[in-house]
Amino acid sequence: MNAQRILGVALDSDQDVVLVRQRARQISALLGFSQQDQVRIGTAVSEVARGASRPGMGGRAVFQLREQDGRQHLEILVSAAGRAGITAGEPDAESLRELAIVTAHRLMDACEVDPGAAGATTVTVRKALPRHEHVTVARMAEIGARLADSPVSNPLHELQLQNQELLATLAELRERQDDLLSLTRELEDTNRGIVALYAEIEDKAERLRRADEMKSRFLSNTSHELRTPLSSIRALSQLLLQRLDGELTEEQERQVRFIDTAANELSDLVNDLLDLAKIEAGRVSVQTDPVVVDNLFRALKGMMRPLVDESRVELVFEPSGIEQPFLSDEGKISQILRNFISNALKFTEQGSVLVFAAHDPEADTIAFAVADTGIGIEHDDLQLIFEEFGQVEHPLQRRAKGTGLGLPLCRKLADLLGGRVDVSSTPGVGSTFTLTLPRTPPVKRDAAAPDGTAP
Ligand code: ADP
Repeated sequence: MNAQRILGVALDSDQDVVLVRQRARQISALLGFSQQDQVRIGTAVSEVARGASRPGMGGRAVFQLREQDGRQHLEILVSAAGRAGITAGEPDAESLRELAIVTAHRLMDACEVDPGAAGATTVTVRKALPRHEHVTVARMAEIGARLADSPVSNPLHELQLQNQELLATLAELRERQDDLLSLTRELEDTNRGIVALYAEIEDKAERLRRADEMKSRFLSNTSHELRTPLSSIRALSQLLLQRLDGELTEEQERQVRFIDTAANELSDLVNDLLDLAKIEAGRVSVQTDPVVVDNLFRALKGMMRPLVDESRVELVFEPSGIEQPFLSDEGKISQILRNFISNALKFTEQGSVLVFAAHDPEADTIAFAVADTGIGIEHDDLQLIFEEFGQVEHPLQRRAKGTGLGLPLCRKLADLLGGRVDVSSTPGVGSTFTLTLPRTPPVKRDAAAPDGTAP
């Protein structure tokens, strides 16, 4: 850091303050500062100098060029007399000086105050030269000569100059104000556009909501209409198969069995569709009661046993060790796990289906998992299987009946219980479906009136 002195000015009277301001403007003009910066520097220096100028107190202002952080700066050091000298008979001097320093801070790049010995203060203000300016030694000599040549004018002239500066600043302010006004107008237009767009989106969302509602209503109505004739078909085919209406030939029995199977499949589809439609319409309520994991497992074991072909696959329920009951809807958990288990049994030719549960104390959740050693699912299909009617092409798929609605239903039910469904799978190795539930149910959502009827 080295400094090259440009000029020194004694500060003995108010006249000197005017002089220092003129010099500041001249020097900053010679150093290539813009008109605006010249005004800033002149104002900052004269404000600081005002506090330092006292007759016979040896105040000084020194202008110098300083190299700092790879850039040249105009630096002005204003040294004031001792504190006692300043404040004598002028109680406001201290606050005036502070005000001057605040102003200098605003107008310059840096403003440092060095209290010095015996209360004598030096205020240093600094401003970097414009980037394109570089003052050489020769230029410094030239500036020195120009300053010696240019006389300092009288206070009246200085006042005129200040007025001109003020007028120029006012004109610039007006220009900025005009710019701001047109910017505000532009912003208003943009805002209006955004508001219009929002209205359009709202309108589309409303139409979508209505279409969705109509779809749910249509599904639920048709499903209801289909259930009654389907029940009759199933009951009648059972009557025929039980020979209550007389003997059947072999061919007749084959055909009635075919009708019975088809009616059962259709009935599954209708039930799943009805469940989905009811959830979507917000007409499914959650009945929370204490659930004991191992009791739930015992009930599931009984229900799923008829589906297990023990010569190929074993269905194992691992004791959970979770004794503490948790609050949830047991019926819905059972529905989700039944779907996981029946899928696992359908898509596992050999090996095992393992059902287990674990408590995560940190998240306070219970995770139920159904892990199989079946055909597995390709990574790219993991999304598809949760879509309505999403099924993966596979020879086993053709044999195993299904609606493709089970998993989307599970996901919706889990959502209703405040939980989630996840899957991890390796093709040829097996899949694990997990239902994670909070141990305490979330605050009830604003569900529509539950109809309470069984699907
Ligand atoms: P569904 O079983 O009635 O076809 P789901 O929605 O329950 O309908 O399942 C969708 C599809 O996801 C199944 O058809 C099958 O392709 C795949 N899937 C589900 N569970 C398994 C599993 N455990 N192993 C392999 N594939 C599975």
